[in-house]
Order: sequence, then structure tokens, then C-alpha cells
Amino acid sequence: MNVLIVFAHPEPRSLNGALKDFTVQRLEAAGHAVQVSDLYAMLWKAPIDAGDSLDRDPEARFDASQDSRRAFASGRQSADIAAEQDKLRWADALILQFPLWWFSMPAILKGWVDRVYAYGFAYGVGEHSDVRWGNRYGEGSMAGKRAMLLVTTGGWDSHYSERGINGPMDDLLFPIQHGILHYPGFDVLPPFVVHRTSRVDAARFASIQQELGQRLDDLWSTEPIAYRQQNGGDYEIPALTLKPDVAPGETGFAAHVKR
Ligand SMILES: Cc1cc2nc3c(=O)[nH]c(=O)nc-3n(C[C@H](O)[C@H](O)[C@H](O)COP(=O)(O)OP(=O)(O)OC[C@H]3O[C@@H](n4cnc5c(N)ncnc54)[C@H](O)[C@@H]3O)c2cc1C
Repeated sequence: MNVLIVFAHPEPRSLNGALKDFTVQRLEAAGHAVQVSDLYAMLWKAPIDAGDSLDRDPEARFDASQDSRRAFASGRQSADIAAEQDKLRWADALILQFPLWWFSMPAILKGWVDRVYAYGFAYGVGEHSDVRWGNRYGEGSMAGKRAMLLVTTGGWDSHYSERGINGPMDDLLFPIQHGILHYPGFDVLPPFVVHRTSRVDAARFASIQQELGQRLDDLWSTEPIAYRQQNGGDYEIPALTLKPDVAPGETGFAAHVKR
């Protein structure tokens, strides 16, 4: 199988760097092919802008969606964007690895998503009408591929528990796991989260490696998070609200996961 790791940490000698190296070795030892997009090392350009389209009329008003749509459709995207899309087409599984910064992904990784997820590639795919609202949330260009987050946090496990002050980790990661990964069709595996990173010493690093190694060995057999499919019958279209008889009384992020 082919695995793409998109890695967002500025320091190769960091904990994240060590976990990335371990991940590559483990997957390759199991016979998988691995590519790493090391965003800081690549000097990845994070902001989406007019320069992302090669054929742009310099007099025209920049429109992030429509310029992206035209450039993708005509094969005139900036080369760095097209190269990342090719890696995604190649991959059977995607791992997004990052330290949690201000309760989300580092800006450089968000910029990778903004630019690589072009109109016609990751969104705006499929029929959009009053009866069908595109191929998304369980369908789309990434259907059949798996994805997993590998995240480190300074905060403790309890800080991210159901009643923890930071909010539950499942809620914090919902916009990434549901909005960025499930949206274009990935099957999203439960995240691998390392908490309380300042307390990682050699012994804890060894146990993290063991747990992470198991998750990597199980990458193809782990049950994905049971996010509901937009076009699977649970939602009213085009309102895109849950039907009254689906998870009655439930609201918020958790209502979009089948129990
Ligand atoms: C801008 C910013 C925003 C942040 N926002 C949040 C937030 O919202 N929520 C939150 O919880 N945290 C937050 N943090 C903390 C952040 O999530 C952690 O600093 C980060 O996850 C640690 O990962 P790292 O790879 O940088 O670790 P490092 O700092 O590189 O390492 C952490 C520990 O692991 C040890 N270590 C490293 N490599 C190895 C190895 N090979 N073997 C054994 N031990 C090793 C180091 O000695 C160190 O003690 C934030 C930090 C920053 C800078």
C-alpha cells in the first residue's frame, strides 16, 4: 500500500520528527511505500493567492474558488499544488502529522489544505441539485482511501476529556476529521494523540512507539469513525439537516457519528 505523510513541524529533531521517522521506518518495514511531504523543509507556501493559477488575467479580481476551479480544470495550477494532488491520488492512506497549536493544525498545514484541495478536486465534485448535494461527506475524490491524524499536545489527556477545560479532543478535531478528511471521501481512522509532551522521556517514548507501531500495523484493518454519509439517507436534501427520526434529540458534532 502507498502512504502519504504530510508533516508539519519546523524541527526535525523534535518529538514529532522522531515519531515521523519511526512511522516511515515501520511502514516501510511492513512493505508499504511511503512519501513524506515535509512542509517546512519544502518551504511550502501557505497562503492561497492569485499566483496559484498559471494563466491568470492580472486585471481580473482574484476569486479563490473560481480561480482554483479554472486552474484545476485546465491543468494550469501552480506546480507545487499539482504535485501534492498527484501524491494524494497515489496514496491509499494519508497521515496528517502535527503538534496541536492553538487547538488546531499549524498554519502551514492549513495552507496545504487550502491550496491542494482545489475546486473540482476536493470540493465542487459531483451533481449539485435539489436532490443531490455533490459527492462529499463520505463520497468524493478520496473515496476508498484511509486517513489518520497523528497529533501531539502539551495539554494532558484529562484536559481534553469529556468534561476537560479544553473541550473533548473529538470535538476539537471534528473540523479536521469530518470537515477536511471525511468531506472529500476519506475513511477516517481514530486519531493517534500523544498528550503531555513535556513529560516524554526515553521510557515514555518507547511506549508511544509501541502503541503507534500497533496502530500503523493495523492501518488497513482499524474500523473508521462511523461518520454519517451525506447521501446515505440520514440527511434532508438540500437542507442538509439530520432527518427527524435520525438520532432524535441529539445535536452538535456527535450527532453526525452513527452509534
Ligand atoms: C504556538 C504554539 C501553540 C500551542 N498550542 C497548544 C494548544 O492549543 N494545546 C496544547 O495542548 N498544546 C499547545 N502547544 C504545545 C504543543 O502542542 C507541544 O509543544 C507539541 O505538541 C510538542 O511536540 P514537539 O514535537 O514540538 O515536541 P518537543 O518539544 O520536540 O519534545 C517534547 C518532549 O519530548 C522529548 N523528546 C523529543 N524527542 C524525543 C525522542 N526521540 N525520544 C525521547 N524523548 C524525546 C523532549 O525531550 C521533550 O521533553 C502549543 C505550542 C506552541 C508553540
